[in-house]
Amino acid sequence: MGTPWEAQEVVDPSLLALNEPLADELGLDPAVLRSPDGLLLMTGNLVPEGAAPVAQAYAGHQFGHYSPRLGDGRALLLGEVTDNEGRLRDIHLKGSGRTPFARAGDGQAVVGPMLREYVLSEAMHALGIPTTRSLAVVSTGKTVLRETRLPGALLARVASSHLRVGTFQYARATGDLDLLRRLADHAIVRHYPDAAQAEHPYRALLRGVIDAQASLVARWMLVGFVHGVMNTDNMTISGETIDYGPCAFMEAYDPGAVYSSIDHAGRYAYGNQPVVAEWDLARFAEALLPLLHDDQEQAAAIATEALGHFSREYSTHWSRGAKAKIGLRDDVEDQTASELVQDLLELLHRHEVDYTTLFRSLSAAVSGAPEPARALFADPAAFDAWMRRWTPLRPDAELMNEVNPVYIPRNHLVEEALTAATAGDLDPLHRLLTAVTHPYDERPGLERYAAAAPEEFGAYRTFCGT
Ligand code: AMP
Ligand code: MG
Repeated sequence: MGTPWEAQEVVDPSLLALNEPLADELGLDPAVLRSPDGLLLMTGNLVPEGAAPVAQAYAGHQFGHYSPRLGDGRALLLGEVTDNEGRLRDIHLKGSGRTPFARAGDGQAVVGPMLREYVLSEAMHALGIPTTRSLAVVSTGKTVLRETRLPGALLARVASSHLRVGTFQYARATGDLDLLRRLADHAIVRHYPDAAQAEHPYRALLRGVIDAQASLVARWMLVGFVHGVMNTDNMTISGETIDYGPCAFMEAYDPGAVYSSIDHAGRYAYGNQPVVAEWDLARFAEALLPLLHDDQEQAAAIATEALGHFSREYSTHWSRGAKAKIGLRDDVEDQTASELVQDLLELLHRHEVDYTTLFRSLSAAVSGAPEPARALFADPAAFDAWMRRWTPLRPDAELMNEVNPVYIPRNHLVEEALTAATAGDLDPLHRLLTAVTHPYDERPGLERYAAAAPEEFGAYRTFCGT
């Protein structure tokens, strides 16, 4: 579903970032991608033989309100490549000019937000979280009017597919049942091949997506990631994180953490993400109803039953991950671990403690150096009391260092890198990438990439006008 379309002409392209390991994975030669023809390729200005770029159609609920026609307003699916592990990957451009789905948009993207997606998605990948990847950011040499005049850019993005919950909503809304069925069959072949063998493949597809999203959102929660715009058009069928707009990593632990300037009601706050994911999945189930059973009442019962698995799956993933974050292994009861985690999170909330720093400092705390962790609390006595319950369980420092990152793309560092890049200096961006693409591996010289934002950085706001 989509419209064949062409990218706008880019007269003066220049490469700002190229992901060489990813290029290798895709069987693309980084040297070729850096050449003039490579830049034409990554701006959609040179279309490889056999490729037929399309602007994809989708619908979606944005902040709870249904839009029947969203689609790639400034993006194009260039085509698919088979990577060196035999997996099919989409290559997609963002910022490639207006399409028939552009509505009032100008079809453009700018340097800051495209590099932001590059950094954040690569950091997420390095953290082990399923995500779309970023292959390259190319500046266009063109000025784009936002609140100010900003340099234009394109992002070349790689995904296991761009099928979204909104894609199914769009197909369902056409009333063409055959289209919906073909879309579901395609999703099964591409992402849930086991579902094809199930007694009811479409029900298995629904369960597959529910489980993948439960696992994904649990992983976000475990690292303190706030997506910021969990509209149904920004939820993939594959279970990859997609569309890095107003997202941010939480610093001080706070379930109410919101960064997006347009999320006034906190619909997409950190602590709401599991509930919102379930809501989005209910929209997916609705779109699938005609395929679940011929009788729509029975179909609804099947959908409800499947959705009921979300919170269980989510809790399982969260609890297992949280238990590892405090270094506890199977010999410790889940209930004991879960109470310890809950109590620790309450302490962090009350004392406004940096989530990432605290969890990383726990490994030292059990290895005879509790001071860095204690120092994060205004009143260390409360933490000491927690420690006295925790240390007798013999937490595993090595395990903790494998799951608690040292380096995340902290908001002040991302801003610093993007501001410099927008002004033409790419060094801070590359230093930041060095830190966050090996997030668990503490290295000398990178101390400032592990530190919380300075007080004067203030409350962080992200903007959707990307
Ligand atoms: P997003 O908030 O990035 O997920 O985008 C929501 C919808 O708005 C999608 O259909 C986008 O293609 C479209 N969109 C966002 N920015 C622009 C733009 N500058 N020009 C055209 N369409 C846009
Ligand atoms: Mg989107």
